[in-house]
Amino acid sequence: MIYLDYAATTPLDARVFEAMLPYLRPDGVFANPASTHGPGFKARAAVEKARAQVAALIGAEPGEIVWTSGATESNNLALKGALEFRGAAPASKTLHIVTSRTEHKCVLDTCRYLEAQGVSGRSGGQPVRVTYLKPSANGVVTPEEVLAALTPETLLVSLMWVNNEIGVVQEVERLAPMLRERGVLLHVDAAQAAGKLPIDLGRTPIDLLSLSAHKVYGPKGIGALFVRRRPRARLNPQMHGGGHEQGMRSGTLATHQIVGMGAAFDVARTDLAADAAHIGGLRDALWSRLQALPRVQRNGGGEGIAIAPHLLNVSFEGVEGESLRASLPELAVSSGSACSSATQEPSYVLRALGRDDELANASLRFSLGRATTAADIERAAGLVIQQVQWLRELSPLWAA
Ligand SMILES: *Cc1c(COP(=O)(O)O)cnc(C)c1O
Repeated sequence: MIYLDYAATTPLDARVFEAMLPYLRPDGVFANPASTHGPGFKARAAVEKARAQVAALIGAEPGEIVWTSGATESNNLALKGALEFRGAAPASKTLHIVTSRTEHKCVLDTCRYLEAQGVSGRSGGQPVRVTYLKPSANGVVTPEEVLAALTPETLLVSLMWVNNEIGVVQEVERLAPMLRERGVLLHVDAAQAAGKLPIDLGRTPIDLLSLSAHKVYGPKGIGALFVRRRPRARLNPQMHGGGHEQGMRSGTLATHQIVGMGAAFDVARTDLAADAAHIGGLRDALWSRLQALPRVQRNGGGEGIAIAPHLLNVSFEGVEGESLRASLPELAVSSGSACSSATQEPSYVLRALGRDDELANASLRFSLGRATTAADIERAAGLVIQQVQWLRELSPLWAA
């Protein structure tokens, strides 16, 4: 089996596994990090070390990292939390969000929820309106297009850094200062950007940024939300309880998971350039091999548009999507994102780029990782080329 689905999830890095073990063993560090005794202090120290490791990868301060269960929760907390905080102010009218049609489902579904519910505050409640910007065929939503969508009621813009299906890198570094100048909050889903691209929040005025450990060779079930301190981004908590995480996210901290995320982000920081060179090189090799086939299209990107090193999304004309995937049992690849493939519908991301249903369906997302080898890529390319040629030969449409 050749695993080329690193954008869906990654295995634990061996160094991460080792770092987590002392916090999982029955005789290990198991105390509650909130407890005020020796073992508790020890667990607390491990949590704080991990907080500093996560902050270091993105140029943040440790106090700006709030632990969550993953990027889905971080995105929910950022959007609902920011709107509810503002909604509590009696002066506010309609609350407006600007986002894009190619965001991860968890951002889009949270926006739909907010639109349906509005935000209830002390003063009764405010309706929420959302603008879903359509990207160009290359997958990009420009900062200028975002600015054009702002209204006096816009509270927040949510734009992902790297798209999880096509890898397109949005210009959030150029957008951030423009929004800061206009007093609009910027939330960025960086689940696919962390560890893949350099991120420096010391220089980029993003207010809220979502992270996940399991996309970066850390454990599943742990993530973080960066919440800027200066100027302070204010959120209403979504999980109420013991007041953990500065009151923003209650619940006993999962020390072993947190230690794993810290170790994973530490490795990602030291290996970032080497990973990008290795993974990006193999990705480019895969794309040049696949171009041996006529009528293949790369989805997303183009002149002057950056694509994250681990992603390649290709449409194959003249084949039926389901048959193509069924003909490649040795390849772990996905048609769209794992999160939406349960629905078996053509990818809404590719549709938003203007691909028709048929072509969107006849697409494969290859995502590469640290353990991918040149031999994997050679074999994967060979299999795909062989099967596409075979399916095209069988297809009366292709013959015509
Ligand atoms: C995987 C992913 C998520 C969800 O992260 P979880 O930690 O699995 O909840 C959100 N956004 C993007 C862009 C992702 O790739």
